Amino acid sequence: MFDNLTDKLDKAFHILKGHGKITDVNVADTLKEVRRALLDADVNFKIAKDFTTRVKDKAIGENVLTTLQPGQLLVKLVKDELTELMGGDVAGVNLSGNPTVILMSGLQGSGKTTFSGKLANFLKTKKNKKPLLVACDIYRPAAINQLHVVGDQIGVEVYSEPENKNAVSIAENAIKHAKANGFNVVIIDTAGRLAVDEEMMNEIANVHKAITPHETLFVVDAMTGQDAVNTAKAFNDRLNFDGVILTKLDGDTRGGAAISIKSVVNKPIKFIGTGEKMDAIDVFYPSRMAERILGMGDVVSLVERAQEQYDEEEARKIQKKIAKNEFGFDDFLAQIQQIKKMGSMKDLVGMIPGAGKALKDVEIEDDAFKHVEAIIQSMTPKERSKPSIIDVKRKTRIAKGAGRKIEEVNQLMKQFDQMSKMMKMMQGGGGKKLMQMMGG
Ligand code: GDP
Repeated sequence: MFDNLTDKLDKAFHILKGHGKITDVNVADTLKEVRRALLDADVNFKIAKDFTTRVKDKAIGENVLTTLQPGQLLVKLVKDELTELMGGDVAGVNLSGNPTVILMSGLQGSGKTTFSGKLANFLKTKKNKKPLLVACDIYRPAAINQLHVVGDQIGVEVYSEPENKNAVSIAENAIKHAKANGFNVVIIDTAGRLAVDEEMMNEIANVHKAITPHETLFVVDAMTGQDAVNTAKAFNDRLNFDGVILTKLDGDTRGGAAISIKSVVNKPIKFIGTGEKMDAIDVFYPSRMAERILGMGDVVSLVERAQEQYDEEEARKIQKKIAKNEFGFDDFLAQIQQIKKMGSMKDLVGMIPGAGKALKDVEIEDDAFKHVEAIIQSMTPKERSKPSIIDVKRKTRIAKGAGRKIEEVNQLMKQFDQMSKMMKMMQGGGGKKLMQMMGG
């Protein structure tokens, strides 16, 4: 996410690092580079210029040059300003209606249908809601089918009327259906066009007027940069929507849309889409995003994801096994499955402070554990529960079965050994010692 921008900002702050004494010329140079980085990321010129002016004013106001670590303070000012630019606080979704009606808008291909499914899944699994998805595209039968496929995937009912060519009446009927059948959220996926056109705008504006949704969300592809901002403006002029959904942030996005959209339409970004799968949805937190952009990682999100997967009972079982020296490869495999549920490796690595930069040129496979899993699966149940019996002969057989080299089996055994030792140390009150060792 935003690798290029992160890299350029890092270089900008580097200017300050090479100097013993920092002068206002150095600060001005840095801010000029920050501005250039923003422009390269496809941030609108005026927004970029105002941004650096504000940071500069604050830097002067806080007497940056007289502080002990002017470089760090300047990074903080940039972070605060980026956070502010992207909306300041996190913006929630209004779920007060019964049913709550959410209208989705956006161009074709922006990821509207995919996101409608993700949102339904999110509300169902995280907010305990009973959502109904509604296919309101009266032009493309394929779009109706696509929503049905998505609904099947997540176990959410999809309402459609393939013969009805009146979007307003479909939406109204769907809400009646929801009321009669106990659905408390109705998500309406509307027709999109390849570009903003009058007919499409009229249609969605009519639906909007007829059903007065609690939330109107505008979905936009983050890869489209400045275009995303212009489209947002056109939709907002007609619909006065409540929030923005930025999709495809997992791709090689320059970042301009995420940074500029709030100040152009004055509407918050509420969610982001980070992949094609139904669980690739994140609530948008401006401060966490600012930290990611500045290469500071996003530890809070990482911990949250870990917590979501944390199963207390399972953890207790594992603890007991470690204490009894019974932690084996089956448990190791189970741990890997848990990590995998947290998201793609690339995404997770991006959340570790500094790691994104350090591993910038390393190709991270999405299924980084594939080979490790193959090796473990090639072990017998006995070998998995008692790894100490694995001798050279067994290793050779395991390697052959997994189609990997024996060195890889050796490496895995070593890692497993280190991990077991570390876990024992953490358990035996050595946690404190370990933290001290790591400088904590
Ligand atoms: P719609 O025409 O606006 O309904 O767009 P779709 O939901 O059909 O999405 C268009 C394409 O973008 C599909 O191939 C989706 O799988 C893909 N897509 C949607 N959201 C994301 C995302 O967050 N990340 C990635 N990588 N692809 C996405």
